[in-house]
Amino acid sequence: MLNRIDLRGSARSADGIDRDLLPRAELDVEAVLEKVRPICDDVHHRGSAALIDYAERFDGVRLDRIRVAKEDLERALEELDPEVRAALEESVRRARLVHREQRRTDTTVRVVPGGTVTERWVPVERVGLYVPGGRAVYPSSVVMNVVPAQEAGVGSLAVASPPQRDHGGLPHPTILAACALLGVEEVHAAGGAQAVAMFAYGTEDCRPAQMVTGPGNIYVAAAKRLLKGRIGIDAEAGPTEIAILADDTADPVHVAADLISQAEHDTLAAAVLVTPSEALAGKVGEETARQVAGTRHRERVTEALRGRQSGIVLVEDLDHGLAVVDAYAAEHLEIQTADAAAVAARVRNAGAVFVGPWSPVSLGDYAAGSNHVLPTGGCACHSSGLSVQTFLRGIHVVDYSREALAGIAPQVITLARAEDLPAHGDAVRARFPRPPQMPQAP
Ligand code: NAD
Repeated sequence: MLNRIDLRGSARSADGIDRDLLPRAELDVEAVLEKVRPICDDVHHRGSAALIDYAERFDGVRLDRIRVAKEDLERALEELDPEVRAALEESVRRARLVHREQRRTDTTVRVVPGGTVTERWVPVERVGLYVPGGRAVYPSSVVMNVVPAQEAGVGSLAVASPPQRDHGGLPHPTILAACALLGVEEVHAAGGAQAVAMFAYGTEDCRPAQMVTGPGNIYVAAAKRLLKGRIGIDAEAGPTEIAILADDTADPVHVAADLISQAEHDTLAAAVLVTPSEALAGKVGEETARQVAGTRHRERVTEALRGRQSGIVLVEDLDHGLAVVDAYAAEHLEIQTADAAAVAARVRNAGAVFVGPWSPVSLGDYAAGSNHVLPTGGCACHSSGLSVQTFLRGIHVVDYSREALAGIAPQVITLARAEDLPAHGDAVRARFPRPPQMPQAP
């Protein structure tokens, strides 16, 4: 069911590889932009009334209100299966261990005597966190969004997740329980582009946020792209991708299981094996067909695996394979080769790397401590996954004394003249009416 792409004989460097040959979905976010634009405009102008209409149209449920009541959050936590609660608590504990280490401390550099530049790290004041809930529900995404935002010190957090018809129009109870567990008090039953617009423009029930983060489907990704600037966004984290670089030492049962695990997310999810081994390619092909037959979401998985975004890519050797996975820049990259750690250390482009046979992507999805909100669609060559850093801004604080400014004034005036911006130079000159060595205005 997996397509085969033979890249043997093609360019051996990531730069030289023709990306059009690599399996990737034709995700036309640009085309969807025109579909989400009127939705976002409508939320801008009609607020909650528009959100209620879109919930009926896209989620099949008529809501009385968008904001989830405190009692509903508390009840969801009380009714949460104790085993799920314990698993979520462990996931939170591990995520905190990792994300706490990402906090930044302010630094002050004394550039010259009397002249300092301090970099002060300040959290974004209010953030909207999107938790998907269309085809699957993702309480794990509550953890992955909320923990770094809390560790960054964000003052005001609001979560949005699609209303569920089977749960009286509330977001899924496990999502509500995860929010309550993490102390999130503001939750909105809103999904898709309309939820992103709610955070960007604000409504009667939801103050505008400065930033929206979190994964989602193509409508969520398109709304983030459309409203970027009006609101800050993280990287576009769209339909999931897994690439596995493997050699003959890999277990085909594990490789097939990991490909299927990510194909389960979405019909647009991508599952790609890159290998120099014909033998492994054959075994993974057979094993994938065998495992798919027994998996719960086999229709969704089959569509994802058959899509042009998935396949087995044959390469000449591991060096060539590394060039291919760097060119692909997968959201998740597994290394299942001999000496996997050494191979992983050479990877340049990936959202997250999973090393060796005992670090499957599923571990990272739930409880490795790493973050699972990661860049997709090749964005991993320039963007990172969600972290504490996502929610911080570094502010440069410049503090020079009279003497320190006098010491650099001639160069500032010279550069202002070179840029033909003499008023810049004059602003410095005005502070020194009778400077001894100050260049004069031409
Ligand atoms: P979702 O919450 O992202 O989207 C559901 C919403 O989409 C609905 O509430 C609805 O409002 C909107 N929608 C549906 N059809 C529409 C239409 N025709 N027009 C306009 N809006 C429409 O949930 P999902 O669909 O399950 O998608 C979740 C996605 O998140 C998957 O693709 C999954 O792979 C991805 N994901 C990515 C990461 C990551 O870090 N990259 C992590 C977890 C999940």
